[in-house]
Amino acid sequence: MSEVKFVLASNNKGKLREMREILGEAGVSVLSQSEAGIQVEPDETGTTFEENALIKARAACLAAGIPAIADDSGLVVDALGGAPGIYSARYGNCATDEERVELLLSNMRGKEQRSARFVSCIAAVFPNGDELVTRGECEGEITQSPAGENGFGYDPIFYMACFGRTLAEVSAEEKNGVSHRGKALRAMKTKLDEYFKENKPC
Ligand code: IMP
Repeated sequence: MSEVKFVLASNNKGKLREMREILGEAGVSVLSQSEAGIQVEPDETGTTFEENALIKARAACLAAGIPAIADDSGLVVDALGGAPGIYSARYGNCATDEERVELLLSNMRGKEQRSARFVSCIAAVFPNGDELVTRGECEGEITQSPAGENGFGYDPIFYMACFGRTLAEVSAEEKNGVSHRGKALRAMKTKLDEYFKENKPC
C-alpha cells in the first residue's frame, strides 16, 4: 500500500503517539488536527464506542476533505456497572487524568471485585462516504493505588497479570503489543490493506 494520509480526529497526544507507532508500519501516516489545518470537536452523542468513533471520524473527514481516523475508547469497570465506559474522558467532570484516577480509586474503595477492561473502537471514514470500524479489548484489574509514569489516562491503575505491572510501568512497545488500541489498530491495518486493494488511495 502506498503512503496514505489520515487526519486523527483527536487532540489527545497519547492516542496520536500510539496511532503513529502502530499504523506507521502499514504505510499510513497520521496527521494531527493542527497539521491538517482543522479543529473539530463534535459532541459525542453516541451510546457506544463504535458510534462515537464514527461521529468523530465523520466530522474530521468533512472538515479536512481527506480520510480521517478516530479512536473512541475507555475503561469499563465491572464493579462500577461498566463505568466510566464511554464517559472515561469526562469522568466526574474532573479536569485532569490524575483527578479521574483518584475519583475512580475512591469509588472502588472496599470493592473486592477489581476486574476491568479497556475498549477501543477505531473508525476510518473516507471522503466518498466509505466507513470501516474495528474494536479491541484488553483485560486487567484496578489496583489500590497508582504506579508508573508511562502511558496516559488510567494506565497507572490498570494492572495486567501478563506483565505483573500496570500499563504505566511497561514500555510503549509492550503496551502496544497487548492493548485495546493496539488490537483495534492492527485489525484496522488489515482492513485498510484489503480496502486499498479494491480502492485507489485518495
Ligand atoms: P475519548 O477521547 O472520548 O475516546 O476518551 C478516552 C478516555 O479513555 C481517555 O481520555 C482516557 O481517560 C481513557 N483511555 C482510553 N485509552 C486509554 C489508554 O490506553 N490508557 C489509559 N486510559 C485510556
